[in-house]
Amino acid sequence: AANDNTKRKKPNILITGTPGTGKTTTSSALADATQFRHINIGDLVKEKNLHDGWDDDLDCYVINEDLVCDELEDLMEGGGNIVDYHGCDFFPERWFDLVIVLQTENSVLYDRLHNRGYSETKLKNNIECEIFQVLLEEAKESYSENIVMALKSDTIDDITRNVATLTDWIRACAKGVPT
Ligand code: ADP
Ligand code: MN
Repeated sequence: AANDNTKRKKPNILITGTPGTGKTTTSSALADATQFRHINIGDLVKEKNLHDGWDDDLDCYVINEDLVCDELEDLMEGGGNIVDYHGCDFFPERWFDLVIVLQTENSVLYDRLHNRGYSETKLKNNIECEIFQVLLEEAKESYSENIVMALKSDTIDDITRNVATLTDWIRACAKGVPT
C-alpha cells in the first residue's frame, strides 16, 4: 500500500535491527531529545499480554502481530512515535515516515549479547541474523527503499551521532516538532 501519512502532524520512526544493536538505547535517547513517544514493542507485548504464550525453543514470547497492530493504531495515527522492535514486516507500511536499521560489527555484538547472558543457540541465531543483514533486507522488502536508512551502532559516539542525525531529521521534517 502507498504511504498515506498525510493526516499526521508529526512523523513516526521505526528503529529496528538485530537484538543488541542498540535500538532501545537509541530510541530512549531520541525520545528524550524530541519529546516523541518511545514504544518498546517487546515491553508492550509483555505488559498487555499481546502474545500467544512462551516459545521454549526460541526463548521468547510468541508475539501476536494482529493484537500489537490493533493496540497501536490510534497512537500511530497521531504521529510522534518512535517504535523499537527487532522485526518490521508486520506493521502497516503507512505507519512510518522513516525506518532505521541499526547495525553492529560482529565481535562487538557478540560481546553485548554474551553480557546479556544469551544461550549459545540464541547467540548464534542473532549473530547470523546480523551477518546476513536480515533486518535490512526485511526493511527494504516491507517499506519504500527511500525511507530505509542503515546506521552503524558500534560505539557510544555512534549513538550520539545517530541521535543527532535523527533529531535533525525530525526538526527538518515539515511535520516536525517546533524548535
Ligand atoms: P537492543 O534494544 O537493540 O537489543 P540495547 O539498546 O538494549 O539493544 O543495547 C544492548 C546493550 O548494548 C546495552 O548494554 C547498551 O548499553 C549497549 N549498546 C548498544 N548500542 C551501543 C553502542 N552503539 N555503543 C556502545 N554500547 C552500546
Ligand atoms: Mn531493546
